[in-house]
Amino acid sequence: MRSAHKLLLTAALRVALLAALGGLLGGLAFGWTAAFVMTTLIVFAGFAYHTWKLSQLHIWLGSELRAVDLPDGFGTWGDVLSDLYRVIRQLRTEQQALTNSLARFQQAATALPDGAVMLDNENSIVWCNPAAEKHWHISLSNDRMQTITYIVRTPEFIEFLAKRNLGESLTLKFSPTLGANSGREVSLAVQLVGFGDDQTLLLSRDISEREHLERMRSDFVANVSHELRTPLTVMAGFLETMHGTDIAGGSKPELLKRSLDHMSQQTERMQRLVDDLLALSRLEDAQNKLAESVIDMQGLVQASVNDARIMSGGRHMLTTSLSPIWLMGNRDEVSSLISNLVSNAIRYTPDNGSVHVSLEIVPAAGQAGGDLLFSVTDTGEGIAPEHLPRLTERFYRVDRGRSRAAGGTGLGLAIVKHVLVRHGGRLEIQSSQGSEDHGSSFRAIFPANRVMSEQPKPQAVAA
Ligand code: ADP
Repeated sequence: MRSAHKLLLTAALRVALLAALGGLLGGLAFGWTAAFVMTTLIVFAGFAYHTWKLSQLHIWLGSELRAVDLPDGFGTWGDVLSDLYRVIRQLRTEQQALTNSLARFQQAATALPDGAVMLDNENSIVWCNPAAEKHWHISLSNDRMQTITYIVRTPEFIEFLAKRNLGESLTLKFSPTLGANSGREVSLAVQLVGFGDDQTLLLSRDISEREHLERMRSDFVANVSHELRTPLTVMAGFLETMHGTDIAGGSKPELLKRSLDHMSQQTERMQRLVDDLLALSRLEDAQNKLAESVIDMQGLVQASVNDARIMSGGRHMLTTSLSPIWLMGNRDEVSSLISNLVSNAIRYTPDNGSVHVSLEIVPAAGQAGGDLLFSVTDTGEGIAPEHLPRLTERFYRVDRGRSRAAGGTGLGLAIVKHVLVRHGGRLEIQSSQGSEDHGSSFRAIFPANRVMSEQPKPQAVAA
């Protein structure tokens, strides 16, 4: 960049040189008076030229700043104007590139199946794509700079926006109060993404169809299970009667006895499967609200451990360390969680192995009191790490044959996971398969706000 002083000096020198040359020629030809007049005229002409160029520049600056309309000039003005011309061209090229990429971005955002609303720091709508217009029933032309909470008044949504938990998602049931679709409820998965200076992008995805299919699937499973229950009970009853009845002419032949045993076992297995499927669909049903009471956890776990001792028949060493704890939750659901984890430990631990069941309060991050930790640790063969993330899927088994032989339905851990989700808890699984140190630990954790370390008033306990 040339310095202003240098430019000024060059311009002044040019005028001075011209004036000196003109004065000299005028003096030589017509004497000193002519020399003076000539010099004055040249200095004045220089001043007039600069003033003229300055006013041309002023007029141009007030116009649309098109490079083609830029005035031209010579000398210092030639240099200045050609630099200005170059800068304007460069700016125009950059502006064009920016306009093109903005157009491309808008095209891409328009084609997105997900909704995107740009919100400023006061949650006013700055821009949105057509999918968002459809999801939130807004129109960019009418609702630009409108606060989104005036349009979407659902309390959960207002709280979600106020918290500004960036990256966290919310499933929202939204029924527009205005427009053609008013009253029709849609399910939206919503997420906030931060960008720029305190601005946010509100992303939305319509999951109504997915939820509808999911509901159809679980209704179907629940209905089939329900329909199978009665015929299975009838079959089990007949089989029991046949077991106890001798056929004419003496006792039953061995083959018939074995067939009846086999049929009874299979019927029992199907009944367990149907019961677990029905339990799972009740847990999955969002309409099925949690009926809560205060549960004496120590008593409940102890009862389950007693059952496990009978199941083990002395083949395992069963130890416990159970603190007196009370939990606010659904007794049947929590009982099924406990018995699933304890019975799994017995079923998947070879003879002479040991199982330890514990119940304690552990510190909870950022909460007064503590979380409830119920853990079952065994010295079984352990589970390979690649299976751990999938264990709570329905019918996922590490070894199908072994699970069947152990009387498993493949639904136990799915039930455990759902019970925990309904109680705001979580399941942690650790397992190792070494030759020395092998075994698994299943830890069910309930949040501190459900836990009491002292016995509440007797009439409130559902033990
Ligand atoms: P199942 O009825 O087959 O036991 P679950 O859902 O209870 O079904 O368990 C899923 C799978 O997880 C089981 O098939 C088994 O392979 C594995 N599993 C569960 N608990 C244990 C355990 N304590 N030790 C080893 N494997 C286990």
